[in-house]
Amino acid sequence: MTLTSPDLAADAQVRADDRAHVFHSWSAQALIDPLPVAGGEGATFWDHAGNGYLDFSSQLVNLNLGHQHPDLIAAIQRQAGELATIQPAMANGTRGELARLISEVAPEGFSKVFFTNGGADANENAVRMARLVTGKRKVLAMYRSYHGNTSTAITLTGDPRRWANEPADASVVHFFGPYAYRSAFHASSEEEETARALQHLEQTIILEGASTIGAIILETVVGTNGVLVPPPGYLPGVRALCDKYGIVYIADEVMVGFGRIGEWFAIDAFDVAPDLITFAKGVNSGYVPLGGVVISDAIASHFDTVTFPGGLTYSGHPLACAPGIATFEVFRRDGILERVRDLGERVVGPRLHEMAEKHPSVGEVRGRGLFWAIELVRDRETREPLVPFNAAGADAAPMAAFAAACKKAGLWPFTHFNRVHVAPPLVISEEDLVRGLDIIDEALAVADEAA
Ligand code: PLP
Repeated sequence: MTLTSPDLAADAQVRADDRAHVFHSWSAQALIDPLPVAGGEGATFWDHAGNGYLDFSSQLVNLNLGHQHPDLIAAIQRQAGELATIQPAMANGTRGELARLISEVAPEGFSKVFFTNGGADANENAVRMARLVTGKRKVLAMYRSYHGNTSTAITLTGDPRRWANEPADASVVHFFGPYAYRSAFHASSEEEETARALQHLEQTIILEGASTIGAIILETVVGTNGVLVPPPGYLPGVRALCDKYGIVYIADEVMVGFGRIGEWFAIDAFDVAPDLITFAKGVNSGYVPLGGVVISDAIASHFDTVTFPGGLTYSGHPLACAPGIATFEVFRRDGILERVRDLGERVVGPRLHEMAEKHPSVGEVRGRGLFWAIELVRDRETREPLVPFNAAGADAAPMAAFAAACKKAGLWPFTHFNRVHVAPPLVISEEDLVRGLDIIDEALAVADEAA
């Protein structure tokens, strides 16, 4: 790690410009104090004041190959020297090569990729394709999901981020997915949860009218709403319902694709093939904005002689695709998928379960690969969350205290309502991973006190 030496003048200047001129997302502008970041390397970044942080959030769970990966930087530099940009209606070698690499790791029969600038517009376009192919407009999406912050994507979202933006798309209906720890179905086992969640989905389809429903969209593993790993049989059950009722199955893999749980696409771990797969973040670790839709041949062929009415100026931008190609090379050369599965099973899972034994504030631990959640509660019996759902201000104080304890010890955590997520870069060293888990373990004492 090359921590730059403290530069308090730079720190003050960055803060001043930011506070005066940058309008931040998801924030009340006068109530925030963003950290001025000076640089980063691998799983660490540092500020201008000389403090380093282990990045256990991979920024927004996009930085799968870590900060300043030399291969990704070199690929961008090489591409910039050759051809910095080209419009999407022309063919380009870098774009074509990345599309081929992606289709090669997608399920059989997914030959084509439509590129976007990120995850939300990938979901927008997947929904658009489903509506055009089926001629049906309604889309079913899960409560406790996040699909992005453009008009249809935010409406698909099943969490509070949707509320202030409604109704952007009137043809979206939400349903409950499986979440055994807080079962909406009063199930007492995982099998019962799966069966009842599928019955509930089928009832929703029947009552909403199969003839009106074009698509169902699901995060393969629910991300920001709690790392909810689907129980065995749930996703194949959704697939069967989609087949039965003529509905397109869209798998949102924006957060979980490209290695987060140790698979190219998370669907590979759950024995299911959707009709459309959306991706972004990990495809190039977010070094240059990129997302897209991987399209099954059955859907792609609909547009062989019918125009697809969608496009973006920067679709398949060469500077974004070049680090995507490098990502494939690094994953294969460095055995990234294998190391993620190994670290998840051998280091993170066992250690978090140990913490659950030790800390009364831990209600449940769940996850896979390098994607885990610790759900904090006031009372293990009642499962009352440590802070209320959609907590803000004083209500959120115990989680803020937990996060502050982590930062003081040199760890940048990912916290959301009553959860701590563990999502470090996939290249993190085992030593740093253990150090970060030690910090979380210690900081949980703050949550225990508040519980
Ligand atoms: N879908 C999922 C599952 C996500 O986690 C996100 C972002 O966190 C999005 C979509 C939106 O992606 P973007 O912010 O690139 O538009």
